[in-house]
Amino acid sequence: MLASRTMSSSRYRVHWWIDALLPVVLVALGLFAADPGIWYSSFGGAFLALAGPVLAGAWLVTFISERRPERIQGPRRRPPKIAAEARDTALAMLVAASLIAWPLSQWRLGRPTAMVTDLDAAGISTWTIVLQTLFGLVLLDAWLYWKHRLLHTRALFGFHRGHHAFRDPTAFASFAVGPVESLLTFWPLLILCIPAATHWAPLYFGLVVGFVNLNFYLHCGVRIGLLERTLPRAMINTSAFHNVHHSHADVHFGEAMILWDAICKTRLVDRPSTQPLA
Ligand SMILES: [Zn+2]
Ligand SMILES: [Zn+2]
Repeated sequence: MLASRTMSSSRYRVHWWIDALLPVVLVALGLFAADPGIWYSSFGGAFLALAGPVLAGAWLVTFISERRPERIQGPRRRPPKIAAEARDTALAMLVAASLIAWPLSQWRLGRPTAMVTDLDAAGISTWTIVLQTLFGLVLLDAWLYWKHRLLHTRALFGFHRGHHAFRDPTAFASFAVGPVESLLTFWPLLILCIPAATHWAPLYFGLVVGFVNLNFYLHCGVRIGLLERTLPRAMINTSAFHNVHHSHADVHFGEAMILWDAICKTRLVDRPSTQPLA
């Protein structure tokens, strides 16, 4: 069984320290912002705006899914580690908030950012922004897949093993990854600081809400027939697909899509000899 997230294993001691110090460094960097007061109030507001709805949504999804009979791994053999899942998801939201605080404080200071609400004023057509966003999503998914593959290497697994402490997760584990992995996942938020990298607010926030809900579904432990039939047609990840990564670990690395698992043949169907974790 994969080790729980403690400093007990000397092999992971360096990873543990880097994960412990990274949030401190990310929050301390606010001291160097153009206006630290604006930065820290942006950081605090972003943390509450992220952690509150994400944990409330995870509670609702868990409340429902734990009462459903369609559980992928069958009846639970041991209780879910909800407190640890919620703690790690809240810490990941803190890392995300420390990144969002930069474009948010830039906007609050009246400086231009990448976020626009009026496409005409920005001189860009709806089709152009939709195609740009789709292209960006495919690029982002490629990054998420290869980041996940890298985190499963011997050298970097110490930054990812916490997520695998949840062998049969609940929706509270949706973002339960360590600070280094959170930074590697959420760094694209900093692109919002670049005014030329236009993001259309209605589409962007819609996709963020969709990504959060997709992650609830991926970790709820239950399969919903309609979603399992429709999402894969758009190469989008599902609960049944991602749950296999928690039970087997070395297959199904895709996070938002299943495209790269199909291309790289890292699906269970491509590696039938892969054994489930104990
Ligand atoms: Zn997961
Ligand atoms: Zn993994």
